[in-house]
Amino acid sequence: MNEKRTEIADLGEFGLIDRINQHISLQNLTSLKGIGDDAAVIDIGAENLLVSTDMLVEGTHFDLSYTPIQHLGYKAVAVNISDIAAMNGKPEQIVVSLALSNRFSVEAIDALYEGIQSACKNYNVDLVGGDTTASPSGLVISITAIGRVKKNKTVLRSGAKANDILCVTGDLGAAYLGLQVLEREKEVFQANPNMQPELEKYDYVVGRQLKPEARMDIIYELEEKNVVPTSMIDISDGLASELFHLAKNSKTGIKIFEDKIPVDSMTYDTAIEFKVDPITAALNGGEDYELLFTISPTDFEKLKNYPDIHFIGHTHDQPHQHLMITKQGTAVPLKAQGWKHF
Ligand code: ADP
Ligand code: MG
Repeated sequence: MNEKRTEIADLGEFGLIDRINQHISLQNLTSLKGIGDDAAVIDIGAENLLVSTDMLVEGTHFDLSYTPIQHLGYKAVAVNISDIAAMNGKPEQIVVSLALSNRFSVEAIDALYEGIQSACKNYNVDLVGGDTTASPSGLVISITAIGRVKKNKTVLRSGAKANDILCVTGDLGAAYLGLQVLEREKEVFQANPNMQPELEKYDYVVGRQLKPEARMDIIYELEEKNVVPTSMIDISDGLASELFHLAKNSKTGIKIFEDKIPVDSMTYDTAIEFKVDPITAALNGGEDYELLFTISPTDFEKLKNYPDIHFIGHTHDQPHQHLMITKQGTAVPLKAQGWKHF
């Protein structure tokens, strides 16, 4: 017998999720949105319940040789809160599951939970349960976040219309360059343990990698300005990849302007030092946990003076045409590389 074996790498993460999704049909009327958005949307009457889960695996997502374990706890919560924010929702509870080996002391787990609790306090969420189990080696943290949003304020990836304005919060590419700095310092340290890591010069980018924040501040700002985005996603895999998700789900095309992509000056300098194009880092870097959303042009006035929201382009009615206008004024096709873990 010659059974066919397909490598996961051939499908990739998104291909695999699509394949799983093909065989899933929703049976309950309360399951309003299943696989395919930042969080599932569940009908609970007057409001919608939001549920999202994310897992961090030692060796794949983090390296404890340069990650303070408190920060890891904080980050594990923040990345889940970010997915609730991406639905325009407010988080209320988390559950935390751990698999850990005997390499970890009780004190290390105390420190992990200090970070988790600090994030809970910051985002105003309650830790209400979880699970603890042994792992043959390494640490796995899986967190599920639960939140709520009003029915008419629920924002999916699929709501953008042609000629909506594409908005990005904060700045991009920093977390990727922070990781490059940390990896380099690790190598230097391994080669010569007497060398002290030289991180001060890179504090902003390293901080963005080790201790990202979910942009709940933007969700409150949008509420205050009475703006409901037409679509939204959080930027976990790089701007380009997330633009493709929005475009595919909303069946629109994308046009962005290179000179509008927000890049911090330390990110820029670090990119040059690492011989990386800063725009490539912003488009494909990942782990920024900023928000990408679209607004109707009629809402532009309400947001135009808000310093942390950048207007990078617009959608249009050619669903498969995704372009970036370069600083020189030429149109180039957008490419999504994203993170490849497989
Ligand atoms: P995000 O980057 O926002 O966390 P992902 O890319 O991880 O989103 O997931 C995209 C969608 O696929 C989400 O709706 C998520 O719930 C779903 N998903 C991911 N992995 C699985 C899985 N193994 N089984 C079912 N659904 C999954
Ligand atoms: Mg997401």
